[in-house]
Amino acid sequence: MNIDLHLHSTSSDGVLAPAAVVDLAADAGVELLALTDHDTVAGVVEAREQCLQRGMRFVAGVEISAAWNAQAIHVLGLNVDPLSEPLLDGLAALRAMRRERLREIGRRIESKAIPALKLVAEIEFRHEVVTRTHLARSLVANRITKTAAEAFKRFLGRGRPGHVRAEFPDIASAIEWIRAAHGVPVLAHPLRYALSAGGRHRLLEEFRERGGEGIEVVCGRADSHIEPLTVLAQRFGFAGSVGSDFHDPQFPWNPPGRLAKLPTGVEPVWHRF
Ligand code: AMP
Ligand code: MN
Ligand code: MN
Ligand code: MN
Repeated sequence: MNIDLHLHSTSSDGVLAPAAVVDLAADAGVELLALTDHDTVAGVVEAREQCLQRGMRFVAGVEISAAWNAQAIHVLGLNVDPLSEPLLDGLAALRAMRRERLREIGRRIESKAIPALKLVAEIEFRHEVVTRTHLARSLVANRITKTAAEAFKRFLGRGRPGHVRAEFPDIASAIEWIRAAHGVPVLAHPLRYALSAGGRHRLLEEFRERGGEGIEVVCGRADSHIEPLTVLAQRFGFAGSVGSDFHDPQFPWNPPGRLAKLPTGVEPVWHRF
């Protein structure tokens, strides 16, 4: 079965509306899809409707920004009840914190040459979930930097003038909200964090102790990660997930629905839906 359980839409920092994301996935042959926007479930009604139209199975999802030992960690909630109050309350608080943080970033990099507060106000007007990615794109669109990578290098990244640490909830809270919404907590892209092997093991151990059930084993087209992630899933007793992390059709490295199969020997996380 063609499965993609990690996709973004304009409800967070993706560039396509939820229905357009579903169409692209449908054209790629996806049969089971989860929309997993950052810190919101606002896109799931539109995505579910389009999945029905296209004859696909849909589960509501979310990718929660969390913190573990001062490191930003992404926790996917798959097959969540999008009306769950503890989940919605937690996400609303997180989004308010994100808006505050973006304003602080704006204040720090505002100058004659960089109308950062105006750019931040525009982003807040247009988007329910505001991320540094939005500001980076806006800096590019306003010709302040050439690329988003340059925006992080000059302004937004660690050690730069616009770097403001986000007060993300700890992973235990993220897992709690997901479980309260009857969803399955899955650690997103476990190899993408700046952690030593020992640190990663401690993260996985704590994630499982707190009620985490799975890890992403197939993440986009990083096929070289599949084997080490399979070993980790088996070692820690996690189910395995599969997702593109699609954001933008201009990025050729993670189109929807063109993923390697989950290795046999790892329990598919969708067996728990
Ligand atoms: P936020 O969750 O608001 O802190 O934004 C984090 C997002 O910024 C990440 O998910 C990345 O997509 C993006 N990001 C972080 N560092 C860089 C970088 N050096 N270049 C481009 N994008 C980055
Ligand atoms: Mn993103
Ligand atoms: Mn992520
Ligand atoms: Mn993602």
